[in-house]
Amino acid sequence: MTKYVYDFTEGDKDQKDLLGGKGANLAEMTKLGLPVPPGFTITTEACREYLSIGTEPGDLRVQVTMALRHLEDKTGRRLGDRHDPLLVSVRSGAKFSMPGMMETVLNIGLNDASVKGMAEESGDERFAWDSYRRLLQMFGKTVLDIPGEVFADALDKAKATRGLANDLELGVEDLKELVTEFKGFIVEHSGVDFPQHPREQLDMAIRAVFNSWNTDRARLYRRRERISQDLGTAVNICTMVFGNLGETSGTGVAFTRDPASGKTGAYGDYLPNAQGEDVVAGIRNTLSLDDLKNLDPDSHRQLLRVMRRLETHYRDLCDIEFTIERGKLWMLQTRVGKRTPAAAFRIAAQLVDENLITMDEALARVTGAQLALLMFPQFDRSAERVLLTKGMAASPGAAVGRAVFDSPTAQEWAARGEQVVLVRRETNPDDLGGMIAANGILTQRGGKTSHAAVVARGMGKTCVCGAEQLDIDVVAKRLTLGSTTISEGDEISIDGTTGEVFAGAMPVVPSPVATYIENGLESALADADAETADLVKAVDRVLSHADAVRRLAVRANADTHEDAARARSLGAQGIGLCRTEHMFLGDRRSLIERVILAHSGDERDAALEALLPLQREDFRELLRAMDGLPVTIRLLDPPLHEFLPDRTELAVKVAVAEATGQTGDAVEADRKLLHAVERMHESNPMLGLRGVRLGLVVPGLFGLQVRAIAEAACDLVLDGHDPRVEIMVPLVGSVRELHIIRDEAEAILAEVTQARGVVLGASAPRGQHSLSVPIGTMVELPRAALTAHRIADEADFFSFGTNDLTQTTWGFSRDDVEAELFVKYLEKGVFTISPFETIDADGVGRLVEIAVKEGRATKPGIKLGVCGEHGGDPESIHFFHNAGLDYVSCSPFRVPVARLEAGRASVI
Ligand code: PEP
Ligand code: MG
Repeated sequence: MTKYVYDFTEGDKDQKDLLGGKGANLAEMTKLGLPVPPGFTITTEACREYLSIGTEPGDLRVQVTMALRHLEDKTGRRLGDRHDPLLVSVRSGAKFSMPGMMETVLNIGLNDASVKGMAEESGDERFAWDSYRRLLQMFGKTVLDIPGEVFADALDKAKATRGLANDLELGVEDLKELVTEFKGFIVEHSGVDFPQHPREQLDMAIRAVFNSWNTDRARLYRRRERISQDLGTAVNICTMVFGNLGETSGTGVAFTRDPASGKTGAYGDYLPNAQGEDVVAGIRNTLSLDDLKNLDPDSHRQLLRVMRRLETHYRDLCDIEFTIERGKLWMLQTRVGKRTPAAAFRIAAQLVDENLITMDEALARVTGAQLALLMFPQFDRSAERVLLTKGMAASPGAAVGRAVFDSPTAQEWAARGEQVVLVRRETNPDDLGGMIAANGILTQRGGKTSHAAVVARGMGKTCVCGAEQLDIDVVAKRLTLGSTTISEGDEISIDGTTGEVFAGAMPVVPSPVATYIENGLESALADADAETADLVKAVDRVLSHADAVRRLAVRANADTHEDAARARSLGAQGIGLCRTEHMFLGDRRSLIERVILAHSGDERDAALEALLPLQREDFRELLRAMDGLPVTIRLLDPPLHEFLPDRTELAVKVAVAEATGQTGDAVEADRKLLHAVERMHESNPMLGLRGVRLGLVVPGLFGLQVRAIAEAACDLVLDGHDPRVEIMVPLVGSVRELHIIRDEAEAILAEVTQARGVVLGASAPRGQHSLSVPIGTMVELPRAALTAHRIADEADFFSFGTNDLTQTTWGFSRDDVEAELFVKYLEKGVFTISPFETIDADGVGRLVEIAVKEGRATKPGIKLGVCGEHGGDPESIHFFHNAGLDYVSCSPFRVPVARLEAGRASVI
């Protein structure tokens, strides 16, 4: 019999796959002897079974009965009993936390009879009826799919007609009326009575949690977070403890360190006389842990002790949910907490200083994506500003955009290219689409643990929450503060690092972390405040450690000396790809056009001759900028037609000339040009005359480039520089192609070096200048990968062109598929991320592995790198590390991220 149900005493924190994050950590806390209410977890496997067969697996019912009886024996109470009933919560808990995405039902076990037993036992009739009211509301919404507003509106109306501001002021009779009303809604909307049988309530709630795995918003969230759609959720059934039993009770959320800034010291929100999700929902404003200390010093002390214990045990920032029931502390959840990028770096460094983790672990605790976020610009503090108000700094960054007041508008405006800031009174999971589309999120209500804050932090999106002074009217689509009004479409700026909200668009400046990476520690610390200095130093420590431990070198893809210099300042250790076709854009295009259209060898030679000095200068500047570091220059790659005029435009021009009887040299030239363009037209240019094929078809073209490279390098050597140029041949599929080009290139290199008195080769006799120019190839066609053992004979290095390799392995046109087709493919789960973004390890990656193995078998010392876009993608970098490459090459701005991830790949 498959075991589908685990008591909290059975599991541990390493069983997240089976028990989900919440279940595994509840079990761990139980094991640690912390005060966790008894309960049990239904496994993710049961959920997967349920979702695939459409009903609960047969054994599950029996196992739930056994676990429930055990729970009843332990607590000495019966589920839903008419005297002193046992009540349970039913909560989802997937392997990866998905805040607010899935369902929870509290107070299962209450019915018309047990509500009275509960009132008697607790001595608090109001509490019992309030709990019943909550059950009906949550059950109606979550299990029976009745719109939440049906209940919320009735609750608001009940308060309004009685002139009350707060739920807590509703009396017993009011709540009884609401219960009757809610039961009526349930019949009206679902066609069935609210189930009075406790076990039926439990079974329905479990099913609802299973089903909540597949709601649209949960699927969307997982797609965005790259969580597999197949994991399923566990379900935790936990004895209810009550934070709504009067003023000596309450519920809260806390962090062992500040998850926004990373500052040491416990941080949290507490809501007295409240239950479950009230804190996270941000409905009432919360108290701080210091306030709790004044209210209930004993529980506060105990809470801090538990938090310290958890942090020592997990050796990381933990977040927790707790409830205090009449002065007794209960732990309802813990996990290693989400944090902002700044907090991640600061906490990693702090934990090293506290001797809780090693530097390797610190490196593993941060990510390249977090570093990238820290490099974003911030608001210019010296600029003139109109400070509207200050809310809570919930998720850092500087966001500027037009104010929008609902999620659909945010999505619609963003889709047409507008920058927007989503302004809401508070957010709920239905706002997810708008939150993704917006640059930033601003809310009026809720603390740092509200839905808006938690979700925004998870997305790395700027968020200011709890800006209470603002009056946000989502119906009229405006916010007001005193005499200032910001309406839909007006510009607004929010600072998620300070909580400030500004009217208008604030200018932004570079972040201190970007300044540090580009200009060094001293310059970044020059006028930094203590917190910024702490962050910059933490980044420096972790990034330096990454540099020290990584095996992969990091190069940049750069085509100009300006880009190369930038890349170098960001830590690039060379250029892995200079795309020389980018040197022929604009004015120079016509020079290539002349080469292609030449009628005779002489004409072509003259055209090439004109190009030579330009190319020589390009290469000289590039090599000078990277003096002493390797620079891989790729010979021309793009399809020929890219250098010719547009076929349709030219055809129209010629047709007009003919129709209007124009004659003369210009018309004749156009006609010839059209003829040439038509001759060269290709249906699939990406698979046509490009790369090495071009070099073989157009005599002298590659030769010209090799000559320019050789001359530039010799000039620099003779000037006392140290150029380390490498020549790369693109789109090779056969060793023969490479062999022909290599022969030609070697002859030119020999000729140029000899003419200038430079010795070609690694070592020269004393007093003589030498130049060594490795010649290698891109591996970007499946055939190249599959014949790597032969190609390696002719290549000093391979550089994997994973853009083309992905295109040709999958047969996807890289310029066309990403728009329509991939949206569908992602939706249907063919892949969770575009293979052009993250390497498809099983297919394209396998070709890389084959080429690495076979290339090295032929030539053990062959240098191996990657220069496709994947070279800057964190997950792909880990793949390339494991595949045994020597370097990755990526766009200059991704170099710091690649350095960090290459380091992480070495320690994870
Ligand atoms: C590649 O194909 O991966 C590559 C780097 O070359 P390009 O993107 O220029 O085709
Ligand atoms: Mg390519």
